This record gives sequence, structure tokens and C-alpha cells, in this order.
Amino acid sequence: MKFNTVIVGAGHAGGMIAISLRNKKYKGSIAIIGQESFFPYQRPPLSKVFLNNDIDVNKLYLKSENFYIKNNIDIILNKKVNSITKKEKFLLLDTKEKIHYDTLVFATGSLINKLNTKVDNLTTHYLRDIEDAKKLKHAIKNIDDLVIIGAGYIGLEVAASLKNNNLKITVIDMDDRVMSRAIDKYLSEFFYNKHISEGVNFLFNQYVASIKNHNGRSIIKLSDGSVLKSDVILVGIGVKPNIKLAKQIGLICDDGIKVDEYGQTSEKDIYATGDCASHYNPILNTQLRLESVQNCVELSNTIAFKICGESKPYSKVPWFWSDQYNIKLQIAGSLVTYDKSLMRGDPKTEKFSIFYQKDNQLISVHCINSPKDFLLGKKLIANQKKFNLDLLENPDLKFSDIV
Ligand code: FAD
Repeated sequence: MKFNTVIVGAGHAGGMIAISLRNKKYKGSIAIIGQESFFPYQRPPLSKVFLNNDIDVNKLYLKSENFYIKNNIDIILNKKVNSITKKEKFLLLDTKEKIHYDTLVFATGSLINKLNTKVDNLTTHYLRDIEDAKKLKHAIKNIDDLVIIGAGYIGLEVAASLKNNNLKITVIDMDDRVMSRAIDKYLSEFFYNKHISEGVNFLFNQYVASIKNHNGRSIIKLSDGSVLKSDVILVGIGVKPNIKLAKQIGLICDDGIKVDEYGQTSEKDIYATGDCASHYNPILNTQLRLESVQNCVELSNTIAFKICGESKPYSKVPWFWSDQYNIKLQIAGSLVTYDKSLMRGDPKTEKFSIFYQKDNQLISVHCINSPKDFLLGKKLIANQKKFNLDLLENPDLKFSDIV
């Protein structure tokens, strides 16, 4: 079999490559190869509405099966790409089928980090795909205790989604606060208080020493020697980029597969997008590997332009969101170090934003139920103009007042 463009990975980024190519009237043949049994779908609902509602998996699909048929996109599901032969430009699937390509796109996504300790698969769950979410949904029926290991986005979103199921939920983290990699101490405190007010318990500065099974329940021993019992455990301790195949064929990788401003890897005719790719962001002047829907959509769009012969460099402000209870957190930019911050709005109303500057330039904004501030912040980050942060104290300030 031979296709002009072959995409490895039928996730959000892989799907978006094919969709963007056809939107741009790409005439070549396209194949997407994915080891899951679903058409490219959105993962964000899996830790949110999906857990509590009867949602048909079709509703998660980026496009229906019909779209791929009508647009002549071959989707090869339930098959894994085992190896790639760069010189002769073909892939070998686990079924021993050979697929030749002219252009190859890596959209292999992320792999979840697993606990080092031995676990019982019936009571310990991870959450990355539809099958994981279905299993978790089934497991939490008729239980009393849920322990969540990891106070990051996934753990906290699941806690928020399941709290109204009358579960006793305990979240354990190695760090001393929630979402410590993504938000500052003030916002961590805000989210912590929100979860506490909803009845979630937290244990910080603890890691899991061992998990043993006793009569269908888990006995979790923590680093300080204390013991917790739980019916079900969810582990949400982050992901790593899936770059094994890329490394095997010698592509330059750092934290992810290194791509240039057009999504092209160190090898001509090979691109990478989504969670597995690492790109240089000219707005933030830094190398980034993002785990977000926005990056899947926009980097894939850049690559589709390039494959179609148009060069439009990838230069976007990264953004992300998280839903917990009635709180929508929206983040734009990247927060590594900052020298000044300013809060707008009132945390008591659960509607406020924090703007962060470095060298008088806005580098990030974190918004709680404040979509207007999010849009303003995103524009100001993209604009890269230096300004006095105090100007943002004026709630009626418009983008045009600054630039
Ligand atoms: P993936 O979605 O990981 O897809 C990669 C696919 O490639 C997988 O299906 C994998 O099986 C397949 N694959 C890998 N290797 C091979 C191979 N060798 N052969 C065949 N197939 C292969 N982002 C947000 O912006 N906002 C959110 O609120 C948010 N919530 C999330 C909630 C959950 C529960 C999860 C899991 C993620 C969430 N994300 C969120 C992150 C976002 O969903 C990811 O950034 C996005 O799904 C990444 O897409 P991807 O296509 O790069 O990778």
C-alpha cells in the first residue's frame, strides 16, 4: 500500500492533520494509522462530563466516519506502527503490512507515567483514553472511597466530576500544593479551598510506598508510614512524549520530537505534531512541548500548509483550560519565571484573573471564570509590547488603550 501522506497516530493531532489537509484542498492520498479502535477524538471530556453522563463515544469524535469516507481519508485502526524504514520510506505494522509514504507525520501523542509500585489492575486506574474512562466509570459504581494519586489537572478534574456521587475522595501528592507545575501558589490555594469546600481531602508531601490488595480493596502505604484504604485508585501523575519510533529512526529529539517553525523534523518529509512534538515559540522565546488541544489544532494546521506548499511559521500564544465544578480556568502564555503580577477582579466572587509580566512584557494570564480577561491577555502576550502592568487595574481597559 502507498499513500502520499501517512499519519502515525489517530488522536486529536493526527485527525487535525488530515482534516486541515483536505480543508486546504490537498489532492494527495492520506492515511491515518492508529492503534486504538476509535476515530480521532477529543480527550478533554474524559476527565470531565464523560464520567458522569451517558455520552456516546461518537460525540467525542472530531469528525464522523462519513467525513473520512467522503474526503477520501483512509483510517487504519487497531493497528500499530512497529517500525519505519526511512531510506525506502515505508512503515511496518504489527500485522506485518507495509505502508509506503511520500510524507510522514508523527502524531504519536503521550504515554502516561505509571507508578513504580506493583498494582492490581482491577482497582488501580489510569486515564488516557476512552477505554480507560469507560473502565473507571464502571469501577466507581457502588463504591465508597476513591483515592486519587496526583493533584494535577486530571486528578482534580476527576475529583470535581465525581464528588457529587457521594464518594469519599482523597487526593495524594508528592508536592505541597495542587497543580504546582502549572499555577502559582495563590491560585493553588484558591483551587485547594474550592475542593475542600466540596468535601475532597488532601494529603501533601507524600508518595506511595506500596499498594496491596486485600479482599478487593487497596491498602495504600504512604511514605510517612501511614495507611489508607480505598475501593478504587486513580493515578494521574503526568505523561511523557511518545518518541520511541522517532528516536529509532534517528530524528533529533529533546523533550519531544524537535520540529522547526513549520513542524518539520530534522528529516525532510517527516513532520511531528501534538503532544509528541517540541517546537520553538518565537513569542515566548523558548522551546516548548505542549499537551493541549490548541497545540494539536494549530501546529497541525501549520504542517498542513507546509505540505500543501505554503510556508506559514507557527507562532501562536499557547493556551489551555481546565473545568472543575463551576470554575473554568483559562491559561494563556507560559509561566516559568515572572517578576510582577497583578490581580483583576475579586476571588470571593470566583471571577478574577492574574496577569504576569517579565521585563515589563506580559508573558501569561491565568483567568478564573473571566473569558474577557483571557482574550485580552492572549492578545497582549502576542503583541509583545512592554507596558506598565498597573494599567490593567482599570477593569474597563481595552487592548487598544495599551497598544
Ligand atoms: P494523543 O491524543 O495521545 O493521540 C496519539 C495517538 O497515537 C493515540 O491514540 C495512540 O494510541 C496512537 N499511537 C501512538 N503510537 C502509535 C503507533 N506506533 N502506531 C499506531 N498508533 C499509535 N487539553 C486541553 O487543552 N484542555 C483540557 O481540558 C484537556 N483535558 C484532558 C483530559 C484528559 C483526560 C486527557 C487524557 C488529556 C487532556 N488534554 C486537555 C490534553 C489533550 O487531550 C492532548 O494534548 C491531546 O489529546 C494530544 O493529542 P495527540 O494527538 O498529540 O496525542
